[in-house]
Parts: sequence; structure tokens; C-alpha cells
Amino acid sequence: MNKQIHIIGSGFSSLAASCYLAQAGYDVTILEKNDTLGGRARQYKKDGFTFDLGPSWYWMPDVFEKFFADFGKKPSDYYKLDKLSPGYEVYFGKNSSLTVSDNLEDIFKMFEEEEKGSAKHLKTFLDSAKANYDTAIKDLVYKPGISPLELVNTTTISRVSQFFSTVRKQVRKNIKSNKLIQILEFPVLFLGAKPSNTPAFYNFMNYADFGLGTWHPRGGMYKVIEGMVSLATSLGVKFEVNANVEKILTDNSNCVSGLQVNGKTIATELVLSGADYHHTETLIDKNLRQYSEKYWDKKTFAPSSLLFYVGFDKKIKNVSHHTLFFDTDFDVHAEEIYDNPKWPTAPLFYANFTSMTDKTSAPEGKEAGFFLIPLAPGIEDTEELREQYFHKIMDRFEKLTSQELKGSVIFKRSFCVNDFKEAYNSYKGNAYGMANTLLQTAFLRPKIKSSTVQNLYFTGQLTVPGPGVPPALISGKIASELIKKNSK
Ligand SMILES: Cc1cc2nc3c(=O)[nH]c(=O)nc-3n(C[C@H](O)[C@H](O)[C@H](O)COP(=O)(O)OP(=O)(O)OC[C@H]3O[C@@H](n4cnc5c(N)ncnc54)[C@H](O)[C@@H]3O)c2cc1C
Repeated sequence: MNKQIHIIGSGFSSLAASCYLAQAGYDVTILEKNDTLGGRARQYKKDGFTFDLGPSWYWMPDVFEKFFADFGKKPSDYYKLDKLSPGYEVYFGKNSSLTVSDNLEDIFKMFEEEEKGSAKHLKTFLDSAKANYDTAIKDLVYKPGISPLELVNTTTISRVSQFFSTVRKQVRKNIKSNKLIQILEFPVLFLGAKPSNTPAFYNFMNYADFGLGTWHPRGGMYKVIEGMVSLATSLGVKFEVNANVEKILTDNSNCVSGLQVNGKTIATELVLSGADYHHTETLIDKNLRQYSEKYWDKKTFAPSSLLFYVGFDKKIKNVSHHTLFFDTDFDVHAEEIYDNPKWPTAPLFYANFTSMTDKTSAPEGKEAGFFLIPLAPGIEDTEELREQYFHKIMDRFEKLTSQELKGSVIFKRSFCVNDFKEAYNSYKGNAYGMANTLLQTAFLRPKIKSSTVQNLYFTGQLTVPGPGVPPALISGKIASELIKKNSK
């Protein structure tokens, strides 16, 4: 009989792991507490509008290709990808924005126009970013994070100094234009920490941005989830939704023996959890938890977010599919997220309008708008605060882009700290896991294999390699390889 494994959660990491394990002959069942699959990448549909609830930037297409290739497939077997042109737009003031093109030549031109001589520096910077990207993909991110030794080879040693400098220092060494600095520091925000707290090595995100480009799966990121579910199903994975795992049961030798799901006990030999790591540990007996509350409290978590999904009854002007509003002081906002947690005085925010390039996401003549304000995890969350901030950003949006918008809202739904906790059992309501700081990189992250409970494994954005969809795919692969190795 095939070895049985139950996977908690149906986010990208769990789905990826389920495919690898089913391919290896395991009898795999995914248990998801929500009524739909996809975790933070679920979908929301209303009145002919379609929104991705979470991720919207499809970066690092090579990682998705690698994933599907492991099963003899291609992304195009499941969804159609469009390269966005421009990749995105950044607002710095009223009617003042820069667009980031989908090709390097135009990006160099844009830099040179903004700051004379900067294109030469950008070229050197991107050469290093590309070399780091290649090293990260080849030598680092697919490693299980068990020991520092797994990271050591001649290439990685030659780059060690970059772990002791920061992205902020590296970017500001030669580039002086505040606008260009903000554009170059933006990609590492996906890793969950401030550029001043992110090792310079992670500038590989700039190569992902400028070198590999920004893509959009037609129909939205949820198409990728649907593709993975279809692949998993074809490999024999079973899915149960509305299946809330309440307890991980262990026997006398601290080995997994079963799960309590919706009040019922089911027997299982192996458990892999893609739910937030902190939450999973609360499902086991206290004496078997590996990390204390103090440990989690000291960690740098990625921000939480206040999100709005808005149906507009007209088309919106002067913005792009992805638009960033960096017209306020990033350092002040970052301090209010990481150092002195409070609701931001003048928040930076991000908006997307997928219906500008993808007709499937809104009825004709209308626009689907997604707005995101990064917030400190664990912060107070009330309806009044949400409403207050909606008006704050709408007023700014209208002024910066010279148009009236509030009168065109058909509906809006918000999602914030309390929803992250409620929907995903997220620690302090974090939106995308634990940040990639120096002390939270590779073997310094929470471990994939439990050291206290036999046959219990973890995957997802709190483990290696870190936050984001491509890392979640990689994490699922790493976890499944470890399980296969240990349960031969
Ligand atoms: C607003 C937002 C925007 C983002 N933008 C981007 C982006 O543009 N690009 C990008 O690459 N990444 C982005 N990310 C990050 C990316 O979405 C995540 O890193 C990734 O989806 C995490 O996948 P995961 O498998 O680790 O976890 P999750 O998707 O969180 O999956 C965990 C699953 O476990 C389930 N679960 C929890 N507890 C239980 C339980 N007790 N029983 C059963 N099930 C349980 C949850 O319901 C959930 O389905 C964004 C995230 C958010 C929230």
C-alpha cells in the first residue's frame, strides 16, 4: 500500500508539495479549512468582476516553468501568460510618474533621462544582480536549510560580503535620484523587510524585475492555482475543503499518529503543514513545540496589509495595470511598520487594475481596482480605521492622477489584519510570512522537518526560501524531497 500523507492547507507550497509526493507514489490528501483552494491566492468574484485576493505580480517565470517541467508540463498547458508593457508605473507626485518598461534598453534610457550617468551604474548593478540571481537559483534557494554547509561553494564564498552589506547601501552608492532609488529599492519589499535590513545579495530581485519582467496570467494569478490543482488531481491528489485541522495527534514515541479534523479523528502516518508555522505548532502538545512565543515575537515578519477590492463603473485614466504610489516618505512609513508599529501617517500604497490589460476581470467599460497599504503586523484593526484609510488613499489617488473616482465605486470589500488571522491563522495577521533578513535566511529560518515530532514537516512562506509565490513553489519541492528521503 502507498504511504499516506495529509497536507494541511492548499496554498502554493502545499499544492507544489502534493504534486511531487503524488508523483513519487504517496497517497496524498489536502485538508483546507476554507471553502475554496489557493490559500492567500484565493479568488473573489462579484457582479462580473474578478479579483485575486492576494498575489498579483507574476515574477520569476523560470521558477514556474521549472515546476511544471518536473511533471513533463509547461505553464502554457494550464494558462496563458502576457508580458506586461509597461511592467508597472510609479507615482512620485501630482501628474508625475515614471513607467518601467518591459525591456532593458528603455529602462536604461529612462534612468539616463532622470539622472545623467546613471545608466552606466545601473548596468553594473544589474550585472551583479543577474550573477546573484543565477547563484540563488543554482546554489541557494533549492537547499533545505538544514546546515550552513549546504550553501558553501566557490561561487557563494565569492559573494559572502554581499550578505553583510544591504540593498539600501548598494543602491545608494552611485544612484542619487530619489525616484530611481525608490524604483531600485521597491523589489526587495517582496521579501518582507526594509531595504536597509535586506542583504545586498538579494538585489537579484532587481534582475527578476528589470531582466525577467512582469507577467500576467490571463484570468489572474488564480489561473496558476487552478493549473496546479488540475495537475495535482491528475496525479491522484485528493482535496477536502471546509476541513479545519484542530489537532495533530502523536503517539507515545512522539510520532504523528493522526489528525483531528472538524471534531473527528483520522489516522495518518505523515503530516506536512503549509499553514503558517506558528499556527501549526499550536496544533501539537505544548511540550513538543520547537519555537517559543518569544522566538516568534522577536522575528521580523513581513507586513500585514489593508486591502480593498473595488468595482468601478468607469474606466480609469493615467494609471497602468500595476501602479505604485511613492509620493510620500518611504522611510517614515517603514518605521511605522517595523520600528514603531502604528497606522501610517502618510502611507505608500499599491494599486492594480487588471481589467486594463485583461478583459476577463471586469465587465466592459468598468474597472476592477485592487488597493494595498502595507501595515505593521498585529496592529489594531477596526471598520472605522479601514474606512478612514480608504478615503485617505482615494483622495490622494484622485489628486495625483487628476480624476474623480469615489463617485464611481459600485462596491468595495476590505481585508485586513483580523481577516488574515481569521482566514489563514496568520501570526499577527502577517500578509506574506517571515522576512528575508540576514538572520532569517536559509538555515536560520524555521526548519522544514520537526525536531520534536517524528513524521511532521512544514512548508510555505515561513520556511525556506521565504515569502512570495515562486519561493512557495520551491518550498513545496524542498519539503517533498526531504519527506521522500526520510520515509524511504
Ligand atoms: C495581499 C498579498 C499580496 C501578495 N502579492 C504577491 C505578489 O504580487 N507576488 C508574489 O509572488 N507573492 C505575493 N504575495 C505572497 C504570496 O501570496 C504568498 O507568499 C504565498 O501565496 C504563500 O503560500 P503558502 O503556501 O506559503 O501559504 P498560504 O497561501 O497562506 O496557504 C496556507 C493555507 O493553510 C490553510 N490553513 C491554515 N490553518 C489551517 C488549518 N488549521 N486547517 C486547514 N487549513 C489551514 C489556510 O487557509 C491557507 O489556505 C502576496 C500575499 C498577499 C497576502
